[in-house]
Amino acid sequence: MRALVYHGPGGKSWDEVPDPVIQDDTDAVVRVDAVTICGTDLHILKGDVPAVTDGRILGHEAVGTVTEVGAGVKNVRPGDRVLVSCITACGRCRYCREGSYGQCLGGGGWILGHRIDGTQAEYVRVPFADNSTHPVPAGVADEQVLMLADILPTGYEVGVLNGSVRPGDTVVIVGAGPIGLSAVLGARLHSPSHILAIDVAAGRLDAAKQFGADIVVNSRDDDPVARVMELTGGLGADVAIEAVGVPETFELCTRLVRPGGHVANVGVHGKPVTLHLEDLWIKNVTITTGLVDTYTTPTLLRLVASRQIDSARFVTHRFGLDQVLDAYDAFSRAGETGALKVVLRRA
Ligand SMILES: [Zn+2]
Ligand SMILES: [Zn+2]
Repeated sequence: MRALVYHGPGGKSWDEVPDPVIQDDTDAVVRVDAVTICGTDLHILKGDVPAVTDGRILGHEAVGTVTEVGAGVKNVRPGDRVLVSCITACGRCRYCREGSYGQCLGGGGWILGHRIDGTQAEYVRVPFADNSTHPVPAGVADEQVLMLADILPTGYEVGVLNGSVRPGDTVVIVGAGPIGLSAVLGARLHSPSHILAIDVAAGRLDAAKQFGADIVVNSRDDDPVARVMELTGGLGADVAIEAVGVPETFELCTRLVRPGGHVANVGVHGKPVTLHLEDLWIKNVTITTGLVDTYTTPTLLRLVASRQIDSARFVTHRFGLDQVLDAYDAFSRAGETGALKVVLRRA
């Protein structure tokens, strides 16, 4: 088969590789029908994730058709359409028993396109298939479901639910990329008074408005702290969601939040951040961090199937699977191309 193979920092190619086979009796092999590229894949290609080594097939998000299952797989059968989640779960360890699948100790967690070969390929082996795939409801398109492999549960669990968004809240989302926009969609499920999105890219702020932010602030031209204080009578936001992953945006969130509020960090940080406890110690602020667990994926699937969430609106660019290098190019130059999510489909 063909697959997108990582060849060390800066290196990738669409290579001929051996087809995946069942290795454990809890594995499934899935034919990839639709796949996407994540910001994390770009981090890997820069060399920021050293656990990913030369020869690894990238990708951790897919929708496909099961072609083969091990003897121990009970929930899925060949021919089933499934969502392949970014998180794999052994289902037996302490964390899996608590629903914290992202922290799985039994060989799961985020492993696809990281510690084992991933989904940017014609076929993928999915370990612990019973716990790591979700059946696709009839009548729902591949690309709608594909957004549930990573970004929607990440924005919802790590942003909205960790941030404890409640009805009437003022929610500020810093960063209007795919994850920030997922947090906008997720926050709307909890009826906040205001969703204020902050970014430096006008195109992304337009997207935030379309996704349901009622106020957008370009922090190049405007002071977001002044805007939030004006909106909240000088108190600050009930919830500030960090969806960028640089020190400046995290520190901004700690200045935007009201006393007693929540800062939910979603961004992937590569550098140390200053935690201003000299200001925060007196403010009763809750700060959360997290890797997605995907425990909300079944709920989000129902909301997509019932048209309460329009997940296909993330998709700005479409390619064939064999155009994966063009897709990477469009996605990595999002500032120029306006890409939010790219979808690659098998021919
Ligand atoms: Zn991802
Ligand atoms: Zn586990």
